[in-house]
Amino acid sequence: MENCKFVSGTGGTTEIGYTNKNDQQCHGTLKVKGTDHLQYVYRMECLRCGYVYGANGSDVHERRCPECQDGAPGIRYWRAEAGARRSWPEPEGPLLG
Ligand SMILES: [Zn+2]
Repeated sequence: MENCKFVSGTGGTTEIGYTNKNDQQCHGTLKVKGTDHLQYVYRMECLRCGYVYGANGSDVHERRCPECQDGAPGIRYWRAEAGARRSWPEPEGPLLG
């Protein structure tokens, strides 16, 4: 289940267990690329209403809950290929020459 292992980011605001001033807690990242430049998506949980969603690492420290704080909609934090066994596609064919 390597694909389901959450890890802390680098820097205090993306560590697992970090809670920002809006009561949004960081659960770490599955290293899914975010919508922001060079950012991973972190799973966040609202400690006020329990809503769980994804946010860019750069947004974690100031994120608001999409559900109860009028924040931006969450983004996908899980891997699209979840369930697929292989991590990389097979080569297209034998290398000749
Ligand atoms: Zn909430």
